[in-house]
Formats: sequence, C-alpha cells, structure tokens
Amino acid sequence: MRTSYSALETFKTCPLKYKYQEIDRIKTPKNVEAVFGSAVHSALKFMFQKSPLYPSLDQTLDAFRDSWDARKATVEFARPEDEQAYVKLGMSLLDRFYKQNPPWNFNAVELETRFETEIEDKRTGEKHILTGFIDRIDKTDQDTYEIIDYKTSKKMPSQKDLDENLQLSVYHLGLAKKWPHIDPSKVKLSLYFLKHREKISTSRNIKQLEDTKNLILETVREIEKRKKEGEDFPPTPTVLCDWCGYRKICPMWRHMYAKEYERDKIKNEDELEAAIGEYFRIKDESSQKTKRLNELKNIIYAFMAEQKVERVFGKEGCLTKRISEKLTYDMDEIKNLMEGSERWQEVLEPSEKKLIKLLPSLSDTMREKIEKIGVKKTTTILTASKSKNAAEDDEE
Ligand code: SF4
Repeated sequence: MRTSYSALETFKTCPLKYKYQEIDRIKTPKNVEAVFGSAVHSALKFMFQKSPLYPSLDQTLDAFRDSWDARKATVEFARPEDEQAYVKLGMSLLDRFYKQNPPWNFNAVELETRFETEIEDKRTGEKHILTGFIDRIDKTDQDTYEIIDYKTSKKMPSQKDLDENLQLSVYHLGLAKKWPHIDPSKVKLSLYFLKHREKISTSRNIKQLEDTKNLILETVREIEKRKKEGEDFPPTPTVLCDWCGYRKICPMWRHMYAKEYERDKIKNEDELEAAIGEYFRIKDESSQKTKRLNELKNIIYAFMAEQKVERVFGKEGCLTKRISEKLTYDMDEIKNLMEGSERWQEVLEPSEKKLIKLLPSLSDTMREKIEKIGVKKTTTILTASKSKNAAEDDEE
C-alpha cells in the first residue's frame, strides 16, 4: 500500500473521510485555509532560497502576493472582504517571521522536500510505501539536523502531544531514509507556529521510531482489512467537520444540506420535523421531571429524618424508605486470603471488560487470535444535540 502521514491521520480522525478521499478519490473544492497555508509555505520556501543572495523582506512579501493571486481563484470567500483579510494576515505573518528569522542566520539544506520510505510488515511479508513532504531541513551543526514544519493554525499542541506527534515521527523516518548515516539522536523535530511566532521542538530515539513503524503498520492493516472484507468506514463527526469538503455527501450532514436546498424533494420531511420536535419536547419534560423527582425525594427524606419515620402517607399512597446494604471487598486482601484455596479459581471469573483493557498490551499473535473469536454486536444509539455546543445526551 502507498500511503502518507496525512492519509493515515485522516483515517484515524474519520474513516469515512479517508474512504471518500483515498479510495473513492472524490475531489472537493479547495478549502480557503489550505489555500492560504500553501501561499504562505510557498513564500517561506522562496525566502530561504539563496541565488546568489537571500531574497529581501519585500521580495518575500511579493512572492506571497504572487502565490496568493495565483491560487485565490480556486476558492470561494464567504464575504468579499475576507480575501483582503487573508492577504493582510499573510503579509503580517511573513513580515514578523522574516524579522525574527532572517534567512542568512540559518543553513537550510532542503526546502519542501518529498520523501518515500519503505516499511515492511514482517507478519504479512508486504512492503508499504510511506510518502511525505518536509517544509524545511536545516543543518544546525556539523552533524546535527532540524526538521521544521510550519503551521498557520492557531492551536498549539502541548509538549506531551508533540512528543507523541505522528507527523514528526514520520518525517524523522523520511529523513533517516534519505540520509541513513545520520544519528537519530542528532535530529531535532520542530513545529513553527507562525501566528504565535513560537517554535516547539522534540526528538525521537530508535525505539520510538520502531514504535512509529508498528503504529503505521497497525493502521495500514486495519485499512486493508476493512477494504478486503468490505467493512464499514464509519463517519466520525468532530469539530474538524467544519473544514471537511465532503459534508454535502456525508450521512452525518447530508440531511441538513438537503433541507436547505432540496426540501421539496424529501419524502415525509414534515412528519419527521414534527417527530423531532416532539422528541426534544418529551426529553426536556422528562429531564425536568427527573430533576423535580430528586427535589421531592430530598424533601421527603428530610421530613422522615426529622419525624423519625420510615414511611409517609398521602392521598395517592405511601412512600417507604429502604436501606440496602452491599459489601465491597479489597481484592488484594481477598487474594492473600484465598489464593491457596481450591475455590480461588472460581473467583477469577473471565471478565470481558478486563479483556478489552488488556488487549492493546498483548502480543500481536495473541491479540489477532482473540479478535478473530470476537463477535461484532451492533447497538443503535440516538444522540440528541440541541444546538452546536449543547451537551450530548445518549439514548439507547
Ligand atoms: S463531514 Fe465529518 S463525519 Fe463526514 S466525512 Fe467529513 S469529517 Fe467525516
């Protein structure tokens, strides 16, 4: 299989998006953020190209404007003024970046470089090709290198997330393939957040690089299995849906678009609208009733405690307080006590919950054997969300 970090990441965040993009190859209109990012990246590449001198700040800004002008026709702006807002933002990001990082202070040895690295799955004997694209590689010292990826996004990851970042691990694998003589401990991995003018860095050791390969192989196996066995690639809605080009065809959003543009073509839409309205009304009433029931219980318990009675009477009937007692055990103490006894095995009953928790830490062979025995059980859940940010409530 031929894949890339971004394809694997897409599969992890939403398998259906992966299917649309990588298997069905459905093209989508370009996203304005992505087009803006490409124009900024292109100017940053230009900035570090020495021929024979490094470009000036003005030349770098001109390169951004040219790149933006060439790309902007491929996107639709929500408002006409947005186009100029992106130009202003790009110019300001690059202006600040240039002043803080004059190109002559760095030794960029590769710019926007592509890589391909082969990963062999020893279990199946298959070889997979992992491809990628590194924004910049600097030689920072005699034998040390730094991989830099520029980000135009606002959100910065924590150091912990950065230490586990798959993209940087994959880039390190790409660099190791390109220059196998480089000691992995001499490679710094950095993300540069242009909006914050902040660079955050991490590194990987040989064991972490092996773990990355295993993680990639696990994901590749999962994708291949789903393709081979015709398994589902389920939609996984998250905040990232806002930037997904497949919303109009995705089953998670299709109805919303159909309501807006093809309402007259939807069968039984009015009946559905009424059902949804009633569903929310009943849910609201039910949660209000649950809340009121708890308040009433507290009033009644307080009365019982004050009057020292266990049962109270009303016109509709009586309410009785019952105390139920249940023993809980410290299982370590029970183990010490019973381990030698013949009945101890009966206490160690198999537990599905424990098995699921244990699965990731088992050997590949054992895990595969267990997974083969597993029987898929499907449960349908209807999730109600009142508004975009409303807390979700699950109903079986
Ligand atoms: S809209 Fe959301 S759920 Fe649908 S394919 Fe895109 S990312 Fe997945």
